[in-house]
Amino acid sequence: MTLQAVLDDIAKRPGDGDVIPVIDPATEEQISEFADGGAAAVDAAVARARESFDAGVWVGMSDRDRAKVLWRIGDLIDKYADDIAQLDSLNTGMPLAQAQMIVPTCAEFFRYYAGWCTKMNGTAHDVQMAGGVSGAHANMQAYTRKEPYGVVGLIFPWNGPIFNACAKIAPALAAGCSSVVKAAEETPLSAFLLERILAEAGVPDGVVNLVLGYGHTAGAALSVHPDVDKIAFTGSTEVGKQIIAASAGNLKKVMLELGGKSPVLIYDDADLDMAILMAAMGIFVHSGQGCVCGSRIFVHRNVYDQVLEGIAGVANSLNLGGPKEEDVHIGPLISDKQLKRVMGYIDEGKSDGVEVVTGGHRLDRKGYFVHPTVLTNVDPGMRLYQEEIFGPVVPVLPFDDDDEAVKLANDTTYGLAATVWTENLARANNIARRLEAGTVTLNCQLVFDHSVPFGGYKQSGWGHEFGREGIEAYMQTKSIWAQI
Ligand code: NAD
Repeated sequence: MTLQAVLDDIAKRPGDGDVIPVIDPATEEQISEFADGGAAAVDAAVARARESFDAGVWVGMSDRDRAKVLWRIGDLIDKYADDIAQLDSLNTGMPLAQAQMIVPTCAEFFRYYAGWCTKMNGTAHDVQMAGGVSGAHANMQAYTRKEPYGVVGLIFPWNGPIFNACAKIAPALAAGCSSVVKAAEETPLSAFLLERILAEAGVPDGVVNLVLGYGHTAGAALSVHPDVDKIAFTGSTEVGKQIIAASAGNLKKVMLELGGKSPVLIYDDADLDMAILMAAMGIFVHSGQGCVCGSRIFVHRNVYDQVLEGIAGVANSLNLGGPKEEDVHIGPLISDKQLKRVMGYIDEGKSDGVEVVTGGHRLDRKGYFVHPTVLTNVDPGMRLYQEEIFGPVVPVLPFDDDDEAVKLANDTTYGLAATVWTENLARANNIARRLEAGTVTLNCQLVFDHSVPFGGYKQSGWGHEFGREGIEAYMQTKSIWAQI
C-alpha cells in the first residue's frame, strides 16, 4: 500500500464526528484528515472484540498457531518497512533514517512475543495442609492457569506511533486477548496500515479493532466502557489519572506507562566525551519527545563548566529540519499545541531568572521547531525542573557529592528512568539502588530490548511492558483446586 493510498483511504473511513486534520509538523501543512469515531465507534469496536473473544476465534486457537500468526505479522512489518517508516516520518517529522531504525524493532515485538505464546504455563502445587471449612486436607492438588483478561483497550501517544502500537498489540495478541486500539489523534497513519497488515497475516476479524479519534471522545469512551476488562495506556501522567478514575465503574484493570523527568548524573571520573555526547543526545533526540529522555542533567562540580560547554556545543551542532530536507539530525515538535507548551516553560523560566546557555527560541521558519535549549541557574522548585516538558529543553545543575546528587535526582514526582556516568562501578551500582526510577542505565542511555521489563516508579506508571511481565500484563492467574 503506498503512502498516498493511506492518506486517501484514512479520509474515507466512515465516522460522523469532528473532522480531525493530519498535519505535517515540519511544514504545518495539512496532509490528510479523518473523522473522529467517538463513543459510537468505540461501542461498535468493543462489541466486535467481545464477540470475537467469546467465540474463541483467537483465544481458542492453539498456542502454536497463534505464534505462527504473530511471526507472520513480524515478517509483514519487515516487508512493508519502507512504507511504515515513511508514514511515521511524515506524520511526526522525525528524520526518515530514525523512523527506519525503529521499524525492525516493531517487527521484533511480534517475533519476541510469538515465542511466549507457547510458554505461559502456570504452576502446580502439592498441598499438604490446607485450611478450610471442612478442616485440613492431606491430599490436595492445586494448579494455576494464565488466562487472558478478555477485551483490552490499548491507548497510546504520538511520539513513536508504530512502536507504541506494536509494543501493546503484540503482547495482547500473544496473551489471547481481543483488543480495541486507540491511536493518537495526531498520528493515525501507521496504525491504519498496521490494521491491514494484521488482516493479511491472518488475525481473525474482530480481534484487533482500530478506532480513531480524540482522547476526550474516543479515548474517554474506551476507558469508561463497562465491557472492557483492562486498559493498557501510554501517555501523560495527567491523563493516566483520568483513566484510573474512568475505570472505577467496572473496576477494570489498568496498566499505565506515563511521563518522566529523568535525571542524568555525570561524575568527574566519567568518560566525559561519551557522557557529554550521550547526555546531549539523550534529551535532544526526537526533539526531547521521548518518555525516557534525560531531562535533568546533574554534573559533579569539578567538571561542571566543561560538561556544560560540551552539551551546549552538541546542541549547537545539531541541524533541525523536516524529513524531506538534507543533513537533518532532529525534527520538529509534533504540533502547534506542543510548541506553545514547550515555549511556555522556556518563557516562564526566563522571567524567573533562568540563564539560557543556548537555544530558548523557536526557529524562524515554518514547522514546529525549537532550538535545543540548555538552561542553568534553575531552582528545583521551578515548574521546568519538576514537570515534564517533552521538548528539547534541559536544565544542567552542579552537585558536590553522592548524597546531594541522589537527593536532587529523586526530587520529583516522576520515576521513569535515570542514568549514571562514572568509571567507578561500585559507586554506579550503589547509586542505581538509591535512585527512584524503574529503569537505571549505567554508562549508557536510550537503551532498549524486548526482553527487559520497563515500567515507572512513583507517578511514572503502574505495571510493566516488555519481557515476561509484558505478556503477563494481559493475563490473569486462576487457581484450580482438586481433592485427590
Ligand atoms: P496524552 O496523555 O495527552 O495522550 C496519550 C493518548 O491518550 C492519546 O491517544 C490521547 O488521545 C489519549 N487520551 C487523551 N485524553 C484521554 C482521556 N481523557 N481518556 C482516554 N484517553 C485519552 O499524552 P501525549 O501528550 O499525547 O504524549 C506524551 C506523553 O506520553 C508524555 O507524558 C510521555 O512521557 C508519555 N509517554 C510515556 C511512555 C512510557 O512508556 N512511559 C512512552 C511514550 C510516551
